[in-house]
Amino acid sequence: MSESYDIIVVGAGIAGASAAARLAADARVLLLEREEQPGYHSTGRSAAMYIVNYGPPDVRALSIAGREFFLGPPEGFADTPLVSPRGVLMLAHPGQEAILDKELAASVGMEAISPETARELVPLLRPEAVAAAGYESDAQDIDVAALHQGFLRLFRARGGQMQLRAPLDSAKRKSGVWEVTTPAGTFEAPILINAAGAWADLTAEAAGVRPLGIQPKRRTALIIDGAPGEPGSARWPLMADCGETWYCRPEATRKLLVSPADATPTEPCDARPEELDVALAVDRFQQAVDLPVQRIEHSWAGLRSFSPDGSLVIGFDAEAEGFFWMAGQGGYGIQTSPGASALAAALVRKESLPSYLTAAGVDPQALSPARFRR
Ligand SMILES: Cc1cc2nc3c(=O)[nH]c(=O)nc-3n(C[C@H](O)[C@H](O)[C@H](O)COP(=O)(O)OP(=O)(O)OC[C@H]3O[C@@H](n4cnc5c(N)ncnc54)[C@H](O)[C@@H]3O)c2cc1C
Repeated sequence: MSESYDIIVVGAGIAGASAAARLAADARVLLLEREEQPGYHSTGRSAAMYIVNYGPPDVRALSIAGREFFLGPPEGFADTPLVSPRGVLMLAHPGQEAILDKELAASVGMEAISPETARELVPLLRPEAVAAAGYESDAQDIDVAALHQGFLRLFRARGGQMQLRAPLDSAKRKSGVWEVTTPAGTFEAPILINAAGAWADLTAEAAGVRPLGIQPKRRTALIIDGAPGEPGSARWPLMADCGETWYCRPEATRKLLVSPADATPTEPCDARPEELDVALAVDRFQQAVDLPVQRIEHSWAGLRSFSPDGSLVIGFDAEAEGFFWMAGQGGYGIQTSPGASALAAALVRKESLPSYLTAAGVDPQALSPARFRR
């Protein structure tokens, strides 16, 4: 006998958890997760930033749509604020000025500042490393654990069921329902949501659905000691070069997160950092910032999974009845999650979009899997 639900969501990272929480308001939802804990893969490994001026236009629209949620989540959603302000300093190294000009022209709320002003924000920036700069004042640090746990708590409060250690092994469409087989049991529902992150294409194939070409790419991060003194580097903005070859963000407890902004195509896996990427991160950071890296406290890698055009994929598959994609979150899955899950819930319920999504410019056609089926 299989247990019966209205909707089965595969993957309990931020994409699956947020969609499941919204849909559990008026449906019986089962959330299946392969690992022992939700958030073990990409969701637990991010740099935790909300930056409106990041990603292609459809991603930016989803990020803008979620802004109010981050600033004022529903009553009881989290015990602490979900976000705290942190500026973004965009640097053009010599030769990158044209890239920065293009970024500034396409951005909302980012202004050009002089290299001298950039060095007032980060006094340890090497003068020769900064040819030009831009500053965005209203980016935010995200408390990813609070956001993810908030969605999971809301999901459970609405009667949602989560099954851990339950990888979808196969799914078959029979008489209008998906029958899903896992080592933890067999489950069925008319709607199957694929929020499997790096495994989105493999999950589709396990359900007999044509993959879309979702490509996981590895990204590395490491933690080093911050600049000594008071306030040291604690109040620095996030800084990145506009060519996306490195970035650095202050962490709590006076540490710095540094990344070489790598994007190495990889098979879906439990990603681990490569020594070369760690060395590149240290080298690029030290070329721009006069702070010797004495010690790497720890390093990690995670997968950012991209659709062929780099935007998210949210919607029903035209070739497979009841099969819904929530994939291709790329480097924006945390910051887009409130907007993306609201869009997914409206599409699954076949309702019109909430006005705040349309006002932000969210276009369901542009995000639909149909764009890859033509
Ligand atoms: C270094 C780094 C920095 C980043 N910085 C940011 C940032 O600053 N801001 C931002 O918004 N984003 C950032 N990201 C991107 C963000 O982390 C991802 O976009 C997001 O976490 C993707 O969420 P997800 O739920 O799609 O994937 P995941 O969190 O990977 O969740 C997918 C889940 O599906 C499960 N699963 C897979 N297959 C199956 C199956 N067959 N059955 C059951 N379960 C299955 C997996 O176990 C996994 O738990 C960063 C990522 C990295 C690696």
